[in-house]
Amino acid sequence: MARSPDPMSVIRILPEAVANKIAAGEVVERPASVVKELMENSLDAGAERVEVALEAGGKRLIRVADDGCGMNHDDALLAFERHATSKIRSAEDLFEISTLGFRGEALPSIAAVSRLELETRHASENAGTRVEISGGRLRDVKETAWAQGTRVEVRDLFFNTPARRKFLKSESTELGHIATLVTHYALAQPRKSFRLISLSNEILNVSPVSTARERVYQVLGGQLLEQLVEISPFERRMPAFSGPASGEEDEGAAEPIVVRVSGFASRPDVQKLNRNQIYFFVNRRLVRDRLILHAIAEAYRNILPASVFPVALIFLELPAAEVDVNVHPSKTEVRFRHSAFIHDLVRDSIRQALMAARPVAAFPMSKTARSAPPDLVEAEAAEKLGDERPLMKGPEIGLPQGVPRGSRRPGDLHLTSPQPEPQTGTLPLDTSAMSVYAPVIPPLVAPGEAGPTAVPAASGVAEFPTDLQPLGQVQDSFIVATNADGLWIVDQHVAHERVLFERHLRQRREKGVEAQRLLLPIIVELKPEQQAVFQDIAEELTSNGFDVEPFGQRTVAVKTAPAGIRADDVERLLIEILDGVGREARSISLDVLRLKIAASVSCHAAIKVNMPLERNKMEWLLRELGKTECPMTCPHGRPIMLKYGMKEIQKAFKRI
Ligand code: ADP
Ligand code: MG
Repeated sequence: MARSPDPMSVIRILPEAVANKIAAGEVVERPASVVKELMENSLDAGAERVEVALEAGGKRLIRVADDGCGMNHDDALLAFERHATSKIRSAEDLFEISTLGFRGEALPSIAAVSRLELETRHASENAGTRVEISGGRLRDVKETAWAQGTRVEVRDLFFNTPARRKFLKSESTELGHIATLVTHYALAQPRKSFRLISLSNEILNVSPVSTARERVYQVLGGQLLEQLVEISPFERRMPAFSGPASGEEDEGAAEPIVVRVSGFASRPDVQKLNRNQIYFFVNRRLVRDRLILHAIAEAYRNILPASVFPVALIFLELPAAEVDVNVHPSKTEVRFRHSAFIHDLVRDSIRQALMAARPVAAFPMSKTARSAPPDLVEAEAAEKLGDERPLMKGPEIGLPQGVPRGSRRPGDLHLTSPQPEPQTGTLPLDTSAMSVYAPVIPPLVAPGEAGPTAVPAASGVAEFPTDLQPLGQVQDSFIVATNADGLWIVDQHVAHERVLFERHLRQRREKGVEAQRLLLPIIVELKPEQQAVFQDIAEELTSNGFDVEPFGQRTVAVKTAPAGIRADDVERLLIEILDGVGREARSISLDVLRLKIAASVSCHAAIKVNMPLERNKMEWLLRELGKTECPMTCPHGRPIMLKYGMKEIQKAFKRI
């Protein structure tokens, strides 16, 4: 360093101001990234209250104020040095980060590309400190009267990097990003207050509450809350992994590592066209993670159609050493030490919550109860897909659209009075079913004195009824049933499909799938690709009730098929399975293959629509449906039943 630079040398160390601008390129992409960094600093400083104020979508002004610990005079200056942080001290600390920040890059980066003013006071000092920096240059430092905490004002973002400034989107888009961000930090921290204002417009203002459920209600409102099923804390101990996971050392059996998932996942009738409403937090840090997106998709497999997405808000809590957050400068990506374990845990927690809640779709006519969720959450979606508004499509799908009213023949709807015999027969069944399938949503602890935040109990989630009395069929296709809660319509085909699907999977797991020998083998010709898939999955087909033998070139003979499949349907079923697996054959897991086969078989074996059913057959079907794990949707994700609640009926008749 003492040597004078060699005039021939071409490599030089960049001045700090340039280095900061480069770092800013990674850390500060848009106003929302500034808000994110400042808000994270406030939370790291132990703030109970964070207030964000904006002008022009954050392009003209971003002000973040908190009541955290503040900084003393020296620290207030040091904070703007590159890699200056109070949060880690050594390289080892990098493997156990419990704060949101740790890189010491945010403040210098933001200050390099804006006009920044910081006011702060630490409890140990009598006066506060005011620092002014513009484009990375220190303009002014002085003492100031300041109560407590910290306030950072960032004006004219990217004023000195015009190229960057051009990339910014419209004010409303940038505002949307910030609103989404603040909203989600508020969701992750129910015990803290958050306020977001844009000019004089208050966008969000939430006071502390004690549960995530209350916070969801405050932020997203009762309508969205009704569409969600709560994942009550789901814990799993990490097994002692024998081999090293991704690191070298594994200290053996010290303390058991417990990982915990909580949050909310949408009912199956909520269907979004993209993933923009899936939010995921690792130790209260908002991240994007493909592994988790996959786990969520897996949880909804055979519940939601493959092309749509749920709403999810997942909080994962695990020891800091289990997750590496030092993956990307903006700290939005993480790496898990035991990723397969995390994946399965997230999948199972959501799955279990959905199974336990067993929500049923309401009739689409109750529009008021299911209008679109607030704009805040939609901001991002709107930007990505023009003006696309994720819709709730569920109930429409299962509506008997093609059924013309008044065109039914008298024999179609049997309105028989209840017969005593089957009723006594179902009584004991009902009670046992109740105890097994009662909703596991925890009773809501009354929010007590907090009047305005009184959250409705999980009333929107209709539990699956076990006391349904069938009245008859509409068009020989939809079973109409009643109980004290109202009127229900059940799609007989998908209901039976769900029953058979679960039975098939159970048999596959246990003793083996029931099969029937065909009188004559059925000869099926395969296309080359089908032939290839057949070779890959032949063994699994055998375990699923098929006995298929090669029979000449590209032709197979089916001798045995799963029970319940009509002989003239066997060929279609086999082809459907082969095509459904298609090119994935080598890449999908055995579990997924089994699910696909079970879904196809049950669809073909199920009672069809336009089929008259005896009353006892309807009763049987409703009872069997009640015993399934997932009576709300068919294996392809379509709703099985619709409910017209007593309240809605009374309202429609103007009785209430
Ligand atoms: P990092 O958060 O990665 O440490 P930053 O550049 O964001 O880096 O902040 C640098 C340091 O300034 C922090 O480590 C912290 O000590 C201090 N600091 C920043 N913002 C606040 C705040 N709002 N309240 C108290 N201290 C703060
Ligand atoms: Mg920081």
